[in-house]
Amino acid sequence: MISKLAYLRSLEHFKMLKQYQVMKNGIETPSNTHKNDRKLRKKLYKHRSKALDRLAAEVHQTVFEAIDCLQCAGCCKGIPAMVNSSDVQRIASKLDLSEDQFYAQYLQKDEDGDWVFKQTPCIFLLDDNRCSIYAFRPKACRTYPHTDHQFSKNIDYHLENSQYCPASFHILAEIKGRLP
Ligand code: SF4
Ligand code: SF4
Repeated sequence: MISKLAYLRSLEHFKMLKQYQVMKNGIETPSNTHKNDRKLRKKLYKHRSKALDRLAAEVHQTVFEAIDCLQCAGCCKGIPAMVNSSDVQRIASKLDLSEDQFYAQYLQKDEDGDWVFKQTPCIFLLDDNRCSIYAFRPKACRTYPHTDHQFSKNIDYHLENSQYCPASFHILAEIKGRLP
């Protein structure tokens, strides 16, 4: 998860990202958001359950098969990823740094007290949108946008996130269509 402040900071960037074509098969990036879709919110809360979690996980899989994140990299460009202590241990060791050096060089605390990358776009993002530490990147990067795990517990987060992440937008659109 990322902080609200981080979202706000990245808003301008993501408005620009909406111009990007990130979907394969000629499907356009959404030009709107589910953020203020009260009917969808009500529907999701009504169906809050393990069954909804399973549906979201299935839809997540399908949408990510259609999306080319390398054409977007919006999360890496605009949202400072959260980095936990296991991430620090792993990444610092791969970069041949001490943990203290890694904290000092790359991380800062956000307003919630979580450690996040100091720099956006992420310092590990390459020019072609690949991640230079992909094999050992933080857990938050691997699991973003968090739609395939305990979806029901984070409904408001997902609605909010649909304005930044095209994948989240399409996942919610598909779920909306599938729920009665
Ligand atoms: S996860 Fe979302 S924001 Fe990140 S690259 Fe993929 S589509 Fe873009
Ligand atoms: S560590 Fe890699 S995946 Fe995570 S934000 Fe940076 S470039 Fe993106």
